[in-house]
Amino acid sequence: MKDQIPYKIYLEEHEMPTAWYNLRADMKNKPAPLLNPGTLNPMTFEELQPVFCDELIRQELDDTSPYFPIPEKILSFYKMYRPAPLVRAYCLEEQLQTPAKIYYKFEGSNTSGSHKLNSAIAQAYYAKQQGLKGITTETGAGQWGTALSMACAYLGLDLKVFMVKCSYEQKPFRREVMRTYGAQVTPSPSDTTAVGRKILEAHPDTTGSLGCAISEAVEAAVTNPGYRYALGSVLAQVVLHQSIIGLETKAAMDKYGIKPDIIIGCAGGGSNLAGLIAPFMREKLRGEADYRFIAAEPASCPSFTRGKYAYDFCDTGKICPLAKMYTLGSGFLPSANHAGGLRFHGMSSTLSQLYADGLMEARALEQTPVFEAAQRFARVEGILPAPESSHAIRAAIDEALHCKETGEEKTILFGLSGTGYFDLAAYGKYNDGTMTDRVPTDEELAQGFAGLPNVR
Ligand SMILES: *Cc1c(COP(=O)(O)O)cnc(C)c1O
Repeated sequence: MKDQIPYKIYLEEHEMPTAWYNLRADMKNKPAPLLNPGTLNPMTFEELQPVFCDELIRQELDDTSPYFPIPEKILSFYKMYRPAPLVRAYCLEEQLQTPAKIYYKFEGSNTSGSHKLNSAIAQAYYAKQQGLKGITTETGAGQWGTALSMACAYLGLDLKVFMVKCSYEQKPFRREVMRTYGAQVTPSPSDTTAVGRKILEAHPDTTGSLGCAISEAVEAAVTNPGYRYALGSVLAQVVLHQSIIGLETKAAMDKYGIKPDIIIGCAGGGSNLAGLIAPFMREKLRGEADYRFIAAEPASCPSFTRGKYAYDFCDTGKICPLAKMYTLGSGFLPSANHAGGLRFHGMSSTLSQLYADGLMEARALEQTPVFEAAQRFARVEGILPAPESSHAIRAAIDEALHCKETGEEKTILFGLSGTGYFDLAAYGKYNDGTMTDRVPTDEELAQGFAGLPNVR
């Protein structure tokens, strides 16, 4: 006998959230402010103006307004691919023979294949509204670049994407999706920026890194009139936009009187996890309900579980503001055999503060068991998950198996942040049995920490 809960819980259009929720408003200990790397004073609105468009700076700096109404134009874009389904994983439960009830929120049912579109459309909208000509950004494997290309095409904005060179060369498919939507894609490091030329001079054979592509994109925004920069994770504004994930999930669960005990998400820069947990964490912060929150991160890039809570640079060129976060140091690069995504060295400062305050747990997972979970999930639930999202699947399966041992009927909710169609080289390694796990040594991490700026 099944519960009376359908396989998929949808919201009607009129039940969809119409405002984003700002988690910072309910935090007693606010996240530490961004600092100017020169003066070490908090970044002001004026200092951020050359980089971000005005409304996004207001959102970035506002840690007191609880709700931001979603503009009509963004709501209508959301309606094209949202609400995202909330799925009861009946088939996975049966396969695991667990008494736990498992739900996942699937963010991959749009062309870009992930949750990143939720913030891309917001960032593009405010740039358009300000009368700007275009946006610059970086992309690693290409998910963010793809999402922003779609958003810019919809609104008629130019987009310059700096794509990490090894991805540009090895992942031509995403590059062509971006170009199809009208983006100009440049392999990074490039000779089109001063910081790119400097990096190329020092390391002519480099295949690039996310931190270096960020530096190039910021420089391009500051030096091209009518352009601003957009970032797809980590920032408070991105966390705000991604709250749509959690608000929809909570509304759908409330419809059926479901209350999760454990909420799990994968964490790279932290935006999909922060978005998913936002309205639940609100209740926990206000003492209205209790939940366990778990961040699932790769053991090869373990910002929460082995990082330091400190001010750090967000980019290799060290031109971005300093953010206080759990970090491995801006010079840290996960080992070359790491195929599971979530490679950024730092973590959202909002999530970092919640973790420091003991409101959230974190777990580091090696990639082979992560892909084992991905395969298991794909075979019973049908969806081919992104390697990033599969960290959350692994953690959810582990919790469900724990319930099997103890006989507890816990309700587990996890975020399925995207699909894995462009990650088939990684799946290939797993299928061939050639995937290996590489966990950094304490000495390797110490090298990254040595590069932390000296800020208290
Ligand atoms: C980018 C991405 C992530 C990691 O970003 P967060 O900011 O940590 O959410 C996770 N899953 C997918 C599918 C992604 O594309």
